[in-house]
Amino acid sequence: MFTQYDACAICPRNCGTDRNNGKKGLCGETSALRVSWAGLHFGEEPPVTGKGGSGTIFITGCNLRCKFCQNWQISQDGMGLAVTDSGFAEMCLELERSGAENVNIVTGSHAIPAIAAGLRLARQEGLRIPILWNSSGYETPEALSLLDGLVSVWLPDLKTLNPELSENLFRAKDYPKAAKRALRFMADRAPLILEGATRERPSGKIVSGLIVRHLVLPNRLADTELVLAWFAEHLKGKALLSLMTQYTPVPDSPYATEIDAFPNRLMQKKEADRLQNLLESYGIEDGYYQELVEDTSWLPDFTRGQPFSSALAKPIWHWREGFIGRKE
Ligand code: SF4
Repeated sequence: MFTQYDACAICPRNCGTDRNNGKKGLCGETSALRVSWAGLHFGEEPPVTGKGGSGTIFITGCNLRCKFCQNWQISQDGMGLAVTDSGFAEMCLELERSGAENVNIVTGSHAIPAIAAGLRLARQEGLRIPILWNSSGYETPEALSLLDGLVSVWLPDLKTLNPELSENLFRAKDYPKAAKRALRFMADRAPLILEGATRERPSGKIVSGLIVRHLVLPNRLADTELVLAWFAEHLKGKALLSLMTQYTPVPDSPYATEIDAFPNRLMQKKEADRLQNLLESYGIEDGYYQELVEDTSWLPDFTRGQPFSSALAKPIWHWREGFIGRKE
């Protein structure tokens, strides 16, 4: 039992829920650590994916709950299974045995105490690969410091710096302030270290550092410009920027019906061109730029053991099936 869950203030929502008593906070979760899926993922940034794939573990629940979330089945609809510390540690070790370059914890901001305990146990039991923290950025430095000595690579989003848009999309007007604070904390913790870079593979393998992700929203390039300007002023030279243009409407999500802040469509070529100009004007060269997607077929489905395309991921564990292909 973690005392931080008694009157929970783990995240900036500070909702005070007694999660140890079985109550669910605004993140949708009690004190139980629940996981939806674990497996090798080949679609992350090049130094994260490496050769073996990134060992992703998708945590159930979310404290931000974006209306446009592509993972809504697990972030907001509760698909997942409770796991113990040792079950979580075994998942990490199985990913390493399967060739993962790292353990990549996806959206665990609301469950930091339990995840830290599971990661500590995994290290004690021999886990050697780096640990990545892949989050929305809606976090407090106090909670993130529970990951000291465990996480060496930070992969947060910087979704927007516009408080009105934050209120509209996440019901969290304080998102910009909280995310800026969290990202500064991460940058101070993790010098950028890429190992094994060669001429053929210049990205190498990330073992320490900060990669800031920003998803560009349709017809909201002015908001993206705010993010680029802040990154250029505070993090350029200390962190990498990953600009994502994959915004995709999620037709099956019951949470996407209220999106009125932007047109619910894919990004357009003319927007992508303007984005390139913005990157140049802020002199941001270190990082990654995702090419435009042209359809919605890549959206994951977590009811299946393989939620992604088989080229994109190899399943190891699923909330309904447990370890896939393993005789328990
Ligand atoms: S982690 Fe969940 S319960 Fe805790 S403050 Fe945030 S929303 Fe509330």
